[in-house]
Amino acid sequence: MPPNGALLKPFLVPRTVGSDSHQNIQDFVRQHFQALGWHFETDRFQRDTVIGKKVFTNLIATANPFAKQRIILCAHYDSKIDFMDGSQKVTNFVGATDSAWPCALLLELAASLPRGSDDLTIQMVFFDGEESFLDWSRSDSLYGANHLAHVWSGSAQSHQRLDKIKYMMLLDLLGAPSPKFYSFFQDTAPVFQKLALAESDARRKGLLRTPRRLFITEQSIMGRQHGHYYVEDDHVPFSMRNVPIVHIIPTPFPSVWHKKHDDVTALDPDTCHDLALIIHTVIHRELAA
Ligand SMILES: [Zn+2]
Repeated sequence: MPPNGALLKPFLVPRTVGSDSHQNIQDFVRQHFQALGWHFETDRFQRDTVIGKKVFTNLIATANPFAKQRIILCAHYDSKIDFMDGSQKVTNFVGATDSAWPCALLLELAASLPRGSDDLTIQMVFFDGEESFLDWSRSDSLYGANHLAHVWSGSAQSHQRLDKIKYMMLLDLLGAPSPKFYSFFQDTAPVFQKLALAESDARRKGLLRTPRRLFITEQSIMGRQHGHYYVEDDHVPFSMRNVPIVHIIPTPFPSVWHKKHDDVTALDPDTCHDLALIIHTVIHRELAA
């Protein structure tokens, strides 16, 4: 998917919680899924934050809300408010990798993947309020994910039940060149293996454009140890409730992470192409199986 695609462009603006562009994204995502005929709902709530009351809106789209089980693909659509990078104030932060491109990829996948069956379907969640307003902490971050995991843990509706999630694949900080991905969770190591296999198959067939391997299988990273997470991200409140997690985030983070240069220039078309192809291949196989 080219970085300037029609699905990406609306995301390449500051998308801070409560801003007009933040609302525009909500409308854009809703229209996309309604046009595809998916079930679409929002999870809207108000929270006291470190900078005052804010209204957050998670966006949830489900291909077949009556299916017995679902795979969730998710990313956060909010962008970080003005912050200090050393002595430099960063304003109008776009967050092309964080997470404009991952969101656009979800829209692309929704349009190109099969719907699944009554046994297994696909659901996409666009989290709000992932970013901290001030300094990252358990209470100032992950506003949307915390709320949704809490609401769903008390829900009896089949497309919301946590025990009906086959796994949750969280995409974050994607699109910059030369990422390396590792498996973080033992229970989803087989899914990670499928990603690595899809990559090596595609590479052998000459379908990939990047020169080096993206999904590394020789080494894994402990994503959770003694109740602490190696990377705190939107998966945490779900993982704590025993939802299996596949976290696709580069180690190390891209060099543009929380820098003003995380804009369209940070996106590498070859990396974007390959990631889209690999993830599409794996989810397609899951839904077709
Ligand atoms: Zn961020």
